[in-house]
Amino acid sequence: MGTTTFTRKSLGLETVEPALTPTPTDKATTLPKKPRLSTGKSKKRDIPEGLWTKCPKCQAMVFDKELDENLKVCPKCSHHFPIGSRERIHSLVETCTFEEMDAKMTSVDVLNFTGVDTYASKLEAHQKKTALKEAVVTGICKIGDERAALGVMDFSFLGGSMGSVVGEKLTRLIERATEKELPVIIISSSGGARMYEGMFSLMQMAKTAAALAYHAQQRLPFISVLTHPTTAGVMASYASLGDLILAEPGAMIGFAGPRVIKDTTQAELPAGFQTAEFLLDRGLIDAIVQRTEMKQQLIEYLNFLSVRKKAAAAAS
Ligand SMILES: [Zn+2]
Repeated sequence: MGTTTFTRKSLGLETVEPALTPTPTDKATTLPKKPRLSTGKSKKRDIPEGLWTKCPKCQAMVFDKELDENLKVCPKCSHHFPIGSRERIHSLVETCTFEEMDAKMTSVDVLNFTGVDTYASKLEAHQKKTALKEAVVTGICKIGDERAALGVMDFSFLGGSMGSVVGEKLTRLIERATEKELPVIIISSSGGARMYEGMFSLMQMAKTAAALAYHAQQRLPFISVLTHPTTAGVMASYASLGDLILAEPGAMIGFAGPRVIKDTTQAELPAGFQTAEFLLDRGLIDAIVQRTEMKQQLIEYLNFLSVRKKAAAAAS
């Protein structure tokens, strides 16, 4: 009997054993799953969501609050993250001095453009997403002691593309500046002309350039600030017409994209091609200015230019 119980027990054990064996194998599978312990890591990633941002340049995790306080510039490596037009205006102008112009002006789908999506639905979606009416915000403001006409483009609205409204708002801003004898500052960030508006979009290049010509005739300064990215129709019109052309570090600046140029010219493009630094070396840009120093620099340039203007007026 005893033996039978023993065998039963042993049998029982045997039956348990296989049941036990999978458990260690389970444990064994949890061990290689150590990367799954990195699910713990991904939990860590979950925790900072919305609180931390990974810098694409130095890979550092930056506390969002710190990033915001530093005007969206990485405190570790100075990488310039995109910044919205409202935040930028806030970072540049004296408190409560910004008088916005044409705030309600919105684009019209003149061509009844339909692609994958209609232009009208694209506009509506971007207006909702960005809480902006268009890709540029314009107004008269005070920067330091100087009054200035300021236009700030926003890349998050349809890639900062220039349609009739962007062109019209900037033209009206420049014309107001000419009338009030104010300097113009335009901070660009754009993928170029707005394809949904075809020729109407391209006409804005000539219109804005002409308005700037009248502004220049009055010996009034125009400071163009190029931020990442400033390309195509915008770069080929007002953005490159500044009396002073400034750029943010690392900004991509150009007309056609590097791939198109490479394919057309069949030539190897030099390192750093189309960056602000590359263009500073070759004289297209006058200075590269850190976003955190932009306000102070603009004040100095505006003071310098207004002193020159007063001196010129006194001499004539
Ligand atoms: Zn960084």
